[in-house]
Amino acid sequence: MLVLGLESSCDETGVALFDTEGGLLAHRIHSQIAMHTEYGGVVPELASRDHIRRVLPLTEECLSEAGKQLADVDAIAYTAGPGLAGALLVGASVANALGFALQKPVIEVHHLEGHLLSPLLSEPKPEFPFVALLVSGGHTQLMAVRGIGQYELLGETVDDAAGEAFDKSAKLLGLGYPGGPALSKLADSGDPTRFKLPRPMLNSGDLDFSFSGLKTAVLKLVNEQSPIDDTTRADICAAFQEAIVDVITKKCLAALKQTGMQRLVIAGGVGANRQLRAGLDEAARRRKLKVYYPPLALCTDNGAMIAYAGAMRLQYARDSYGYGAKPRWDLASLPAV
Ligand code: ATP
Ligand code: MG
Ligand code: FE
Repeated sequence: MLVLGLESSCDETGVALFDTEGGLLAHRIHSQIAMHTEYGGVVPELASRDHIRRVLPLTEECLSEAGKQLADVDAIAYTAGPGLAGALLVGASVANALGFALQKPVIEVHHLEGHLLSPLLSEPKPEFPFVALLVSGGHTQLMAVRGIGQYELLGETVDDAAGEAFDKSAKLLGLGYPGGPALSKLADSGDPTRFKLPRPMLNSGDLDFSFSGLKTAVLKLVNEQSPIDDTTRADICAAFQEAIVDVITKKCLAALKQTGMQRLVIAGGVGANRQLRAGLDEAARRRKLKVYYPPLALCTDNGAMIAYAGAMRLQYARDSYGYGAKPRWDLASLPAV
């Protein structure tokens, strides 16, 4: 079965073709970051309009790379939510229109399930059950995953998401938007021992996170050190990154211990962070646990994870067409496969 996947929940237009026999045949991403940079964040109306411009050309590129035609597509999966309403409507409209025109079923995909299952696009892929850490721009959650659609929330952030903390701290340091990758790059040349930043909720005894205090601590440092030179900026980045990696690593280990599971799966944009990967790999090696990641290019938003999640949910495909955008949508409400 050949599944076309469309992602348009925020500021990336993603399109992919996933074949249940042949695997991922093609995927394309257009990031709108450059367009939103001058506003310091995503402008929803601009995002929707850009998705409209990009989605069909990207679809054509995927089809041509895979040597397929629209008529070969067996089902169309799209991100139905959660996300920006107008942006979601673009993917929903295109998917439903294509489905109607081709008389092929459509599948609503939950964006976070897409992220969560993206490590299954890597080899070797993790077997169920596993603990999943979802660390993205909008979420920081630990889940016990026993199968597709069987997600038990173990803990989550009580305030900012990890990616949000990266981006907000980067902004305080004058690194632009979204500054996560830039902050991480600068941290490589910094000294993580010069400044000591807090490890919020490290010993809270539960699996929840809190990152807003860390951002405030960065703000305080920036003010104290002002005017800030390049070395100091890099040292703050290094201290910040070390604090985040430390907290996330310890909470992941605690989640594995609590569930008695041996496998840890990382998903979402912050999963691209090299220091985090190094910290988790080292901790896992010492305890003979296994850690799995999505391919680097599939950590942030993409169509491949949506096509894949859609392929896993073919049984829920429907051939009644409508708009079906769900800006708010609880992951726990998904049916098991
Ligand atoms: P959600 O999926 O929760 O709705 P989102 O789709 O915006 O949020 P993703 O696309 O998964 O989130 O990830 C984007 C986030 O990942 C941004 O906050 C970005 O700064 C962060 N990020 C990306 N690469 C890195 C990196 N190397 N180090 C740290 N953070 C990173
Ligand atoms: Mg994005
Ligand atoms: Fe995302």
